[in-house]
Amino acid sequence: MRVKLSVEKMRVDIFVEYGELTGTCPECGAACRVYDRSPGRVWRHLDTMRFGTYLHCEPPRSECAEHGIKTMSMPWAGKHSRFTQLFEAFAINVMLASRSTQEAGKLLRLEWHQLHGIMKRAVERGLKRRGNDEIAWIGMDEKSFRKGHNYVSLMNDLEHSRVLDVVEGREGNAADKLIAKALDGGQREMVCGVAIDMSAPYIAAIRRHLPHADIVHDKFHIAKHLNEAVDKTRRKEHRKLLKDKDERLKGTKYSWLKGMEHLSDESLAQVESLAKAELDVAKAWYIKELFRHFWTRRDGAFARSYFERWYHEAFKTGLPEIRKVARMLKKHLENILTYFECYITNAVSEGLNSKIQTIKANARGFRNFENYRVSILFFCGKLELSP
Ligand SMILES: [Zn+2]
Repeated sequence: MRVKLSVEKMRVDIFVEYGELTGTCPECGAACRVYDRSPGRVWRHLDTMRFGTYLHCEPPRSECAEHGIKTMSMPWAGKHSRFTQLFEAFAINVMLASRSTQEAGKLLRLEWHQLHGIMKRAVERGLKRRGNDEIAWIGMDEKSFRKGHNYVSLMNDLEHSRVLDVVEGREGNAADKLIAKALDGGQREMVCGVAIDMSAPYIAAIRRHLPHADIVHDKFHIAKHLNEAVDKTRRKEHRKLLKDKDERLKGTKYSWLKGMEHLSDESLAQVESLAKAELDVAKAWYIKELFRHFWTRRDGAFARSYFERWYHEAFKTGLPEIRKVARMLKKHLENILTYFECYITNAVSEGLNSKIQTIKANARGFRNFENYRVSILFFCGKLELSP
């Protein structure tokens, strides 16, 4: 072994030689003779006192009776890596601890594609190690990928707050692909419940592949639909009022989307005065707020009878957006009531979503889906990443 130090370049080069005449076959591990050396390779290692440190070696090629001539694997590095395992493990920890990939790149003096290579190998290792654990409660959801109409479908493990996998698209067979990719045959038998939105392709895929799973249309998705109905009602009414120079709804968007207990005294007074004036948006808001009692008693029988009363009230408003959501909820009522049997929601997925949002913002838009998937699994997969 020889060490070369260059103070000007702030660099340490370590040259390792393999002097033995025998080696092992990388395929089968059999002892065999060294045939020759392959061309020199360089691996980056952990810095030595802030000096970039590089390992040089000409890996020997072994000659196996069964597998022929193969380059031997070196104990300090993975097969396709330009970094030693110790460096990769360190780089993984720096990336996990950094606020952004750019920042990690600066600390490690690595380019984006190098960081990404390390991430990709880490995720491959982690997925292999995850194996076939039993996963009882899952959530499936869509998420926008790029600006425009690109979507991805995600599967989350609700118990352990981790993303299991991601596929492109949200319609057609995206859900089938997602289930096939994230869970093996045995795991599919073990799933007890899935929290999803009321989307037909997801429902059909679960029916097809997860024979023992209850479907739960959870409260977060339902709240989202009700909020959207309130907001559409507000926009429509606001436009109508503006024609008569009536600006009462200006700047009220967020008051209607919050729950009553989260409103400031000022907003609450505003909401109450608009309600007295019998504006449509106030009626829609009231119906949305009423639905919250559906959940509070944690009692399926109560919820079922409460729903009938709520549905009646919702229809009485005559508001098309509210009626539309009410009809949708009635159609899917049985799979909403399943909540009172297994109490799962996508609350975990909501948390993961905001984490994914940060990943997306930090990467300044992903050029392709596979990179996006690797980043999500790296940061949100709770995988064992180290070499
Ligand atoms: Zn062999």
